[in-house]
Order: sequence, then structure tokens, then C-alpha cells
Amino acid sequence: MAFVRVRKVAFVGTGIMGAPIARHILDAGFDLTVHNRTKEKADPLVEAGAHWADTPAAAAKDADVIFTMVGYPDDVEDVYLGKNGILDAAPKGAWMVDLTTSSPTLARELHDAAEVVNKHAVDCPVTGGQQGAEDGTLTLMMGATEVEAKVLLPVLDTFAKSINYLGRPGDGQTCKLCNQVSLASCMVGYADALALARQSGLDLDQVVDVLSQGMGDSAALERLAPKSVVGDYRPGFLNEHMRKDIGLALKDAEDIGVDLPGADTAFNLYDVLCQIGGSKLGTQALTLLYQNEGDAAAAGLDWSLLDADDGGYVDKDSAGEKDAPSQAAAGRKRVQLVSHTRTASQNGEA
Ligand code: NAP
Repeated sequence: MAFVRVRKVAFVGTGIMGAPIARHILDAGFDLTVHNRTKEKADPLVEAGAHWADTPAAAAKDADVIFTMVGYPDDVEDVYLGKNGILDAAPKGAWMVDLTTSSPTLARELHDAAEVVNKHAVDCPVTGGQQGAEDGTLTLMMGATEVEAKVLLPVLDTFAKSINYLGRPGDGQTCKLCNQVSLASCMVGYADALALARQSGLDLDQVVDVLSQGMGDSAALERLAPKSVVGDYRPGFLNEHMRKDIGLALKDAEDIGVDLPGADTAFNLYDVLCQIGGSKLGTQALTLLYQNEGDAAAAGLDWSLLDADDGGYVDKDSAGEKDAPSQAAAGRKRVQLVSHTRTASQNGEA
């Protein structure tokens, strides 16, 4: 492993997560260059002293470390291997660190492609949400050993509270998918609980408070259920990204012969939410699937967009892609689930 002292840092993808992470790097005194598909989202960083680059390649060309925090595996592929990709442009010995939640297989391919040309590519997805990014307290899952990744510590420390070394390339992504599988069922768990409470006429604030004191608690319940209760669906974590993550996990699980019934249920629900117009809402909007159509419409959802007649099955080969999942996930099971939740919600209408 070539040793570089990190001085110049590039950051590609300054969205909900990337912008605050990049800000911590800048505030720590690193010489930062940023690029984002939509330039405006990087403007505050540039105003704060970062350099702007017109392409990922231009950002990477003299950087010691290049971070990427884009949306989908396709975006990662584009940023690394596309016409203006960072893999070719990065200097020899440079590190490319992908913070995106992406495919473990792609992470391994990028790692191998980089090593061949004396560069380093490592998967390093994060958890902790928008708040963790803003507070600089993210948990990192690194597809490398501690010894290999030592050179990155000064810059990782600017936005992480915990760095976990999973060892092999791609293992960081696999660990992150495990996190998402667990989170997905926690989301469905609290959405189910709120539906039961609402239908039974209980005070929802009180129910969330009680659950948070016992074994029914989860970080999802504590941080997101209060938002669901008051109807705050602004995104910290986009529904379309949740659908992408569970889709990637289901694909991997299928490849190695593991059934994940909890994740399967969550995938179907998030897919429905995206199909009826909720892609850009936060994941806490899941509870709208259980509420009456008036609540859904007020949040911008439209149940008539749901194509309930497609009797296909989940196509996990495309489940982690940007455009495919809504088609891919159409399944008999989902239709049953939706008609069940809709009937339940309609029963609850005054
Ligand atoms: P986001 O707000 O959509 O940010 C992604 C950014 O990447 C956008 O600004 C997008 O540009 C940019 N981008 C995409 N493709 C690009 C390309 N080819 N070239 C340059 N820029 C490109 O999403 P986010 O919430 O920050 O999430 C980013 C990733 O982290 C996702 O994989 C997500 O699953 C994961 N994650 C999110 C959270 C969370 O709580 N939000 C937590 C952990 C992990 P545009 O501005 O043009 O769209």
C-alpha cells in the first residue's frame, strides 16, 4: 500500500449527506475540491472556501483522497468509470473512498480495478443519518483492514464517531445492507404499531413514549415515529434510497440462498410508497400507507398511480437500480399486502 499524507481532498456528491460531511472536512483545514451533478447544491461549500470542479475527473486529478457520496450503484459506476470518471483521473497512490450505500459486488470490482493501476478504492458506507452527518458522528463500515486504511484516519475522524473495519473489499457494503435490513423491519414494526394504536383510538404521542421505554424501542421509533405522528415527511433519508438498499440486500440474499421475509415485506411496502409518488419523501412516510387516502393526498401521494394488476414477482436482479424496482417489485404478494393495508386504513376513516 502506497502511503500518502492526506492534504488534498475531493468530494463528489454534495446532497443531503455529502454536503455536511464535506463541510466537516473543509472545516478541519483540508484543501477541498467539490463536484455535484447539480452545482447549486455545492455552492455553500464553495462560498465557505472549497474549490469547484466541473467534472468528477477534474475534482480527482490532484487529490490524495477522493470521497464519493452519490445515490445509486449506477451513479457510483458513472462517477468511477464513466467518461469523466475518477478512476482514470486520480493520481497514482490516491485513495477513492465510496460512502454511498451501493453494491458489494461493484465495490469489489472497483477495488480490483484500482489496484491494477496502483490506486486504492475502498467501500465505506455510513450510518447515522442526516443528523449524524451534520454532527460529524457517523458510524463507518470500511471494506478494508485497519492497517490498510490507516492513512485515511485524519480525514475520516472529521466526520465519524466510529470506524469499523470489516476486512475485505465489499464487506463494508454487506455490513451496511445488514443494517438496512434491520432498519427496514424496525420501520415496518413501528408503522404497524402506530396503525394499531390509531385504529384503537390511543394517543399516538403517548404510545411512542411508552414504546421507547421498553423492548419495543428502536432508533427508528425514537427518531422517526414522532415525525410520522405530526405528519413531518421531509426527507432525512429518501424512500427511494430505502427501496434501493433493501433491493440490494434481497439480491445478495438470493445469490447466497438466504430468505429475508422481513426485508421482503419492507421492500414491497417501500416500493408501493415510491410508486404512489413518495420517492422523495422521508422514510417515516411509510405510515401513510396505513392512513386514510386524505392524509396520503395531503402529503402528495396518489393511490391511483398504483398498478395493482401486474402480477409479476420481485426481480431482484434489478432491485437495486434507479428505475427498475417499481416494475420489478410488482407481485401478487404486494397486491395482497396493499389491499390489506388499504382496507384497514379505509375502515379507519371517519
Ligand atoms: P442525495 O441527497 O440524493 O445525494 C446524492 C447526491 O449525489 C446528489 O446531490 C446528486 O446530485 C449527486 N449525484 C448523483 N449522481 C451523480 C453523478 N453521476 N455525478 C455527480 N453527482 C451525482 O442522497 P443522500 O441522502 O445524500 O444519500 C446519498 C447516499 O448515501 C445514498 O446511497 C443513500 O442511500 C446513502 N445514505 C443516506 C443516508 C441518509 O440518511 N440520507 C444515510 C446513510 C446512507 P443531484 O443534486 O443532481 O441529484
